[in-house]
This record gives sequence, C-alpha cells and structure tokens, in this order.
Amino acid sequence: MENDYDLFVIGAGSGGVRASRIAASHGARVAVAEEHRVGGTCVIRGCVPKKMLVYGSHFADELHEAARYGWSIGEPRFDWPTLRDFVNADVDRLERAYTSTLDNNKVDHFHERATVTGPNAVRLASGRDITAKVILIAVGAWPVVPDFPGNEHVITSNEVFHLRDFPRRVVIQGAGYIALEFAGIFNSLGADVTVVNRSDQILRSYDLSLRERLLPIMQARGVRFRFSSPIERVVKEANGSLLVDTAGHAPIAADAVLIATGRRPKTDGLGLESAGIALGANGEVPVDAFNRTACPSIYAVGDVTDRVQLTPVAIREGHAFADTVFGGNPRTISYDCIPSAVFSQPPLAGVGLTEAEARETLGEVRVFTSDFRPMKNMFSERPERGFYKLVVDAASDRVVGVHMIGPDAPEILQAAAIAVKAGLTKAQFDDTVALHPSMAEELVLMR
Ligand code: NDP
Repeated sequence: MENDYDLFVIGAGSGGVRASRIAASHGARVAVAEEHRVGGTCVIRGCVPKKMLVYGSHFADELHEAARYGWSIGEPRFDWPTLRDFVNADVDRLERAYTSTLDNNKVDHFHERATVTGPNAVRLASGRDITAKVILIAVGAWPVVPDFPGNEHVITSNEVFHLRDFPRRVVIQGAGYIALEFAGIFNSLGADVTVVNRSDQILRSYDLSLRERLLPIMQARGVRFRFSSPIERVVKEANGSLLVDTAGHAPIAADAVLIATGRRPKTDGLGLESAGIALGANGEVPVDAFNRTACPSIYAVGDVTDRVQLTPVAIREGHAFADTVFGGNPRTISYDCIPSAVFSQPPLAGVGLTEAEARETLGEVRVFTSDFRPMKNMFSERPERGFYKLVVDAASDRVVGVHMIGPDAPEILQAAAIAVKAGLTKAQFDDTVALHPSMAEELVLMR
C-alpha cells in the first residue's frame, strides 16, 4: 500500500524546513507539521529577534559617543514597545517567507502537533492519521526551568520578546549564551541587571582568556553577578514585584526573572517508543552519523539530537539527510571547527580548540595573543580592551584555534574560521599582509 507521503517532517524549524525543501527538490512528496510557528526557535524566538534586540540596545552607547564625534543630539529616550513591535513585525515577515518556501516547494504544512504512532505513521492533534515512507524528527529543544517554589512567575527566552512593559530590574539565572546576551541587552537598554549562577563559571565552553576578559567588562558596565548562588525561591508581592531568594544572599527585587539554564530536546509525549526508539539521558533522540535513529525509517536532525545546538548545524544536518535519503548522495557533515559566538556586549567568538583543550590533546602548543584597545573605543569613556588569541600546534605550525573578544568579533571570526578549517599554518597567517587600520589585522600581526 502506498504511503500518504514519502517524507513527513515533525517540526518546521531550521533543520526541518531545510530538509523538507531539499527532499521536495529531489522529487519527494513531503509534508511538515509544526505546533508553534513556522521558522522554529532561531527565527521566531531565538537568534534573529535576539540579534535585533542587540542592535537596538547598541544605540545607547552609540548615541552617547556621538557627542564626542561632534554630533549634537537631544536627550535620548528609549521606548520598549517600539523596539519590541518592530522586532516582532520582522519575525512575522520571516515566518511568511519560511511558509512561502514550503509552498513554493510544494511541501504540505499542517499547523498542529504531530506525534509518532509507528515506524511509518504519525497522528495529527486533530485526529488524522498519516503514513510516510520516512519520518524526520526536527522538533528542536525547549528551555529548562529548574524546580523551585515560585517558578511559575519566571520567564524564559520564549517569552522575553513579548514583555508588555520594559522591566527596570531584571534577574537572570544562568551564565551561558542566553543569560549573558540578555544581560547585555537589558543593561544597555537601562535596566538594573543581576546574573545569578549555580557555579562560579561563565560560558564554560569558551577559552578562559575570553571569559576572564568579558566578566570584568560586564561588571564595569553595571551588570551584577552572584556566583554559586542559584535561585531558591521567587515570591510575587502584592504590587506585582518579584522577590528573588538566592543561596546565601539578601533577596533581590525584580520586575522580570529570566531563566536561561539550558535547553532540553522537546521529545516529551512525541510517541517515539511506538517505533522502538529509546530516548537518551537528556531526552535526546540518538542517531548515527547519517541522522538515522534505531528505527530505520525514522531520522532526526537539529537540537532534538542534542549534538550541537546551533542553527547552521541543524540546517546542514537537514540538508545532508535529504541528500542522503532522497537525493542518492549519502553524506555526513563535519563537526570539526564549528565557529560560534556570544552576542554579549562586547561580543566574543571562537573556533577550534581552546588553549586548554589544545594543551590536553596536542602536547606542545604555541599561543599568540594580542591585547589591544580597539580604535572604535578610543573616543569612548570606556577603557575596554579587545583580546585575540591564536592557538598553534607546535609540531605542525597549524593554527588550531582562534578566540576573539571585542567589537565585531563574530563578524571577523567567520573569515578566520575558514583558515582554521583549511588547516593553515601560523606562517601563512604571518605571510598575509595586514589590512590597516582594522581590528582584524591583529590576526596577522601576532608574533
Ligand atoms: P547554556 O548551556 O549556554 O548555559 C546554561 C547555564 O545555565 C550555565 O551557566 C549553567 O551553569 C546553568 N545551568 C544549567 N543547568 C542548570 C540548573 N539545573 N540549575 C541552575 N543552573 C543551571 O544554555 P543557554 O540556555 O544559555 O542556551 C542554550 C543553548 O542555545 C546553548 O547551549 C547554545 O547552543 C544555544 N544558543 C546559542 C546562541 C548563539 O549561538 N549565540 C545564543 C543562544 C543560545 P554552569 O555553567 O555553572 O553549570
């Protein structure tokens, strides 16, 4: 008996939409179900609106500094609803663009939840049963909220883009990507920000030198940090204000409490056991290098597999899956040298091995650093310095890691990542003429 579709995708986020489009272009009959909004975390409630808030918040500094460059500007005033609505309108536009992509590729889409009922079967929330030769799980991940009394009063990155009023006092739990990006946004927009974390570390996966540079800069900009001090309780007072109790400190009054303590694969109730798939310890769907699960007709890509929780990785996995299964081109993706960035203020970015990782895995390592005051900051009242680091394998002279903090570090790092991925040597970096005056020239001037 013929199946209703060749491919049924659950989840229309970065990985699911790419897989749908490419499978359809290979001639497959494709449908996708999405219980929230087409576009997924990155487009709807992640990377894209976050980056726009980062841009919006930068004007606080830029307007202030403009006077030093000779501009006269009246007293700057910030209006949260204007920024919020502008960002959300752009998210609406992108959702329409993603939906058009599905339509243009003749991918059927169902705007409801779908669950797996067998190796080749899914059921829509409305009750319809659909069969497919192949099922792709691309449901992503969802913020984890630790268990403590009063956690019903907190928000996550899902809600933060929709706050009705601008929170004057913000407590953020966690010291990872989301926590530090939003600490920067709210701090620049004028809020009083306290970051509380369970350990005394920030951004664990990044090179220590970058973390040690970022923390004092954020503190000097006015963000308070309380380490080894997780939230124990949140109480909502009669006037609507929140009181946050953390271990060993006086309570903190807040208008919003943002929890950013990691994201868990969104597999609860997905029905994968009906196809004989056992979930991993973190709720993830285990897959092989070809994104195939323990059930030969079911595949999974993106955050739900809990490999690397980054949009460009999910997109590549979705593309490789579609080429493999429907394009007659079996291929895996490389997880080597994935560049990443934190859009903190200042931002930081890295690719390849950290200094500590290189020392542990390579033996002899040469490290080159540049600690400089970016020209852009010369007129600023802030004495913030940038810091770049090259990690070099002494035996081969290959640059195995590049780590940067300073203005535009993510923009610069993308190009440096090509060199690291290509296995270029420190001598080849040195052989490249500096582009002057720029911050990026530091990359070829470290001796
Ligand atoms: P992260 O994994 O970056 O950070 C989690 C933070 O929460 C850490 O500080 C950790 O503390 C703390 N934490 C973890 N579990 C608990 C717990 N049970 N109780 C208290 N604290 C806890 O997670 P995020 O939520 O910030 O981001 C999720 C993922 O989204 C990232 O890993 C990243 O892949 C992706 N992302 C990427 C962005 C980018 O590319 N720019 C931006 C935003 C998100 P400790 O370190 O002390 O253990």
